[in-house]
Amino acid sequence: MTLSITRQFPIAPLVTSLIDGESVAPKPKGFDIDVVNPTTEQLISRLREADADEVDSAVRSARRAFDSGPWPRMDINRRKDILYAIRDHLRKNAEELAYLECLNSGLPLQSVRGHVERMARNFEFFAEVASNVHGETYTQTAGYLTYVTREPKGVAGCISPWNAPLALSSMRVASCIAWGNTCVLKPSEFTPLSVRRMVEIFYEAGLPPGVVNLVNGRGSVTGNALVSHPDIDMIGFTGGTATGRAIAEIAGRQLKPVALELGGKSANIIFDTADVERALDGALAGIFANNGQQCLAGSRILVQRGVADVLIERFVARAEKIRIGDPMNETTEIGPLAFRAHLDRVLSYVAVAQADGATLLTGGKRAAAFEKGWFMEPTAVMASSNDARVCQEEIFGPFATFLTFDTLDDAIRIANDSKFGLVNYVWSEDLHTVMRCSRDIRAGTVWINTPMMRELRAPFGGYKESGIGRDGPQASLEFFTELKSTIIPIDPIKMHRFGVS
Ligand code: NAD
Repeated sequence: MTLSITRQFPIAPLVTSLIDGESVAPKPKGFDIDVVNPTTEQLISRLREADADEVDSAVRSARRAFDSGPWPRMDINRRKDILYAIRDHLRKNAEELAYLECLNSGLPLQSVRGHVERMARNFEFFAEVASNVHGETYTQTAGYLTYVTREPKGVAGCISPWNAPLALSSMRVASCIAWGNTCVLKPSEFTPLSVRRMVEIFYEAGLPPGVVNLVNGRGSVTGNALVSHPDIDMIGFTGGTATGRAIAEIAGRQLKPVALELGGKSANIIFDTADVERALDGALAGIFANNGQQCLAGSRILVQRGVADVLIERFVARAEKIRIGDPMNETTEIGPLAFRAHLDRVLSYVAVAQADGATLLTGGKRAAAFEKGWFMEPTAVMASSNDARVCQEEIFGPFATFLTFDTLDDAIRIANDSKFGLVNYVWSEDLHTVMRCSRDIRAGTVWINTPMMRELRAPFGGYKESGIGRDGPQASLEFFTELKSTIIPIDPIKMHRFGVS
């Protein structure tokens, strides 16, 4: 069934936390954050920020649910039933969730459709993964049986960004709770609406109280209180590299494990041996899908000299025809950027590029057709060197940076000359070229002749400053469970008897 948005859904005038399965009544006074529609620039709601006390209530609820609630002790079939019910309820409410996501984030429905299905599927997927886990036994030492079991690790702090709120929050939460853990989720303060509704739906589907608690607010206040809380056992974070570093510092002092999915500046390498038509489609999708706001964007497009002129000319012509508009419209390809400060930041890179000697190929301005809304023209620059800031810094918008190269070795060297290492794209029909890139590129994922195919069963995450740890079944098992070895003698053992002569 194709998901469309056919109507409007109600929006609470004040977004509050959700603790122990209940909506929290707003305190009489508190810090409020405007929730704004990036398409119209209109205020659509307000968020009452959770302060440290409220974060503490949320953590205590998650702690109770873990220490004495049914969730970690539940028979796996029952837990699976609830996770499947969550999947079904999310699908039943898909139109409302898509509406809230498009409204609040500006992401086009074309992207949001995929995110909504991914969100629902995450619960099914991790339910299956958790139900298939098994342990180890050791019998080599005569007279002893040693067995190793997996236990849920405890209470997680899950923190997510604004560029795909439903898909990324659900990935963290599903991979955490499927093992019997409980959590406190803090989504981005810029895009609270869809995630708030998603967590309500968990409880409509039968999740026991306190398994997932939601707090909202700025990173420096609510996020910081969550990360620092002594009763949080581990942190799953998706967001920017600078924030990840700050979180890891706090967590390090408390010896809390962290899983960090951070930023990227991924190379999209197009060789002379590529199928140019496909490479062109892939390059456009790699940088302009999801309004260009994606960690895995192919934002550094490296083109081999022989195809560079043709490819870049055609890229620019296509970029100028991209349909910009209302994110809820079926045909829109790029919606507004998520918030004003972000639009200003992305636009500021045009001057940064030019100061470093780049040539503007297209775009570079707010989209003139719109009086309101944070719309930006799809933009591309030709950089003069990979040292330029536009080649080294994550811009996180519809902003492509081109570079040309001569040889396979050059391409690999330039691709790896980055502090990031999240993904890389390679376009070539030549087997040797493909195999060399697959082996020598230092990134968590290498996509060959395909843009952005996410295999949920495989690990996803970054080398270098793109993160620590991975998403995926095995990685989630290792991060979200503890290992316990139990050692039992088969016959009564002989022991030295201290104090007996
Ligand atoms: P961000 O780091 O500014 O914020 C992410 C989340 O962290 C938000 O909820 C924010 O409120 C919170 N936060 C901020 N400061 C905090 C602090 N001191 N303590 C605790 N929480 C804090 O990132 P963003 O701008 O929301 O998202 C964009 C970034 O996310 C980009 O760099 C992008 O590459 C990255 N990202 C990575 C992946 C991945 O899988 N690797 C996926 C999506 C986005």
